Amino acid sequence: MTFEYRNKQLHAEDCAIRDLVAAHGTPLYVYSHATIAANWQRFADHWPAPHKLCYAVKANSNLAILNLLASLGAGFDIVSGGELARVLAAGGKAEDVVFSGVGKSRAEMVYALEQNIRCFNVESAAELERLNDVALELGVRAPVSLRVNPDVDAQTHPYIATGLKANKFGIAMKDARGVAERAANLPGIVLCGLDCHIGSQILKVSPFLDAADRMLALIRELREQGIEIDHLDMGGGIGIPYQQEDAADVSGYLQALRKRAEAVGGLTLLLEPGRAIVGNAGVLVTEVEYYKPGVDKNFLLVDAGMNDLIRPALYQAYHAIQPVKQSAEDANLVDVVGPVCETGDFFGHARHLAAQEGDLLAIMNAGAYGFTMSSNYNTRPRAAEIMVAGSDVHVIRQREQLEDLWKGEQLMEKLR
Ligand SMILES: *Cc1c(COP(=O)(O)O)cnc(C)c1O
Repeated sequence: MTFEYRNKQLHAEDCAIRDLVAAHGTPLYVYSHATIAANWQRFADHWPAPHKLCYAVKANSNLAILNLLASLGAGFDIVSGGELARVLAAGGKAEDVVFSGVGKSRAEMVYALEQNIRCFNVESAAELERLNDVALELGVRAPVSLRVNPDVDAQTHPYIATGLKANKFGIAMKDARGVAERAANLPGIVLCGLDCHIGSQILKVSPFLDAADRMLALIRELREQGIEIDHLDMGGGIGIPYQQEDAADVSGYLQALRKRAEAVGGLTLLLEPGRAIVGNAGVLVTEVEYYKPGVDKNFLLVDAGMNDLIRPALYQAYHAIQPVKQSAEDANLVDVVGPVCETGDFFGHARHLAAQEGDLLAIMNAGAYGFTMSSNYNTRPRAAEIMVAGSDVHVIRQREQLEDLWKGEQLMEKLR
């Protein structure tokens, strides 16, 4: 494993985290190059060309990580023009980019068309009409996949389930045929695929395969009507074990998908994994500021906050918390909380930890939706990010400086 103890010190690959902190401070994101590459390979082994893996950039969009994935052959799933610019800055190719998201602006459409991306994942009839207009204005045709909502229960947290009728995402199954017909007839649109994304942090294969069956049935129907569909993109959503759950069966899922698609024939498959590629490849390291015994509970106040890692506050997400130095002292039952002025600013409730002031803790599985969701709330500069490869250490993002935080702010001119 990547993050393991050697002589009671937690290491990232061959680097002691204590040493990384001595050089770079806390809060500190530390990623493992080998883990990202191994996670990628787990998918790639079962996904021969022409099938394509498009890494979901929003999970972790650091340029060094995008560059690593591009070098491994990744395409990219983006949800904004900003993410497209990042992919290009990191050396990714526009022709391997699919553009998801419910609210694409005209400016984003223009930019993505000019860059010649592989496909727009269109989420509504209104978006389809707008994209057609924008493409015609530019004198091009937009390659389109329709995001269909297959209405399956992904059995995950309600805030990260996206494939039910009640969600804002995608085109309802009952409307999909009509929208596909329209897409096939619009002069600025080339309809090439269908896609779905039923949610995130899904550990079972069955919801994905239920969704695939519904999507493949729709593809058959459309083909019978003379509407050709060349690709099926099943989105991302494959979960990782945060608290010793059984890992998702990635190879079983990918093989089952290919088998089902082959039975229909003539389909290129796409997947958009995010969390499964980077989630377990990163930790957030934080220092204990205070041990604060309380009336009902004891608290460990740490120097990372919800602005650095918001998943516990946002989704009640569980992250394991480990001491950077293993100790033989008796553990206390503690809540691990940050310094931000919100009761929701916590990393873990009722954890057994022996840590005291000055000790370091590692918040595990923080590689996905960690840094990318971080903010400057409470005027806290965002953390530095480090990539470890064996015993090599690369600073892939410098710690933000205070002055960066008010760059662009201005005092008002004197009122008249
Ligand atoms: C967020 C998202 C993904 C990635 O989800 P993971 O759970 O990180 O794999 C893929 N596709 C779409 C459309 C998304 O919104």
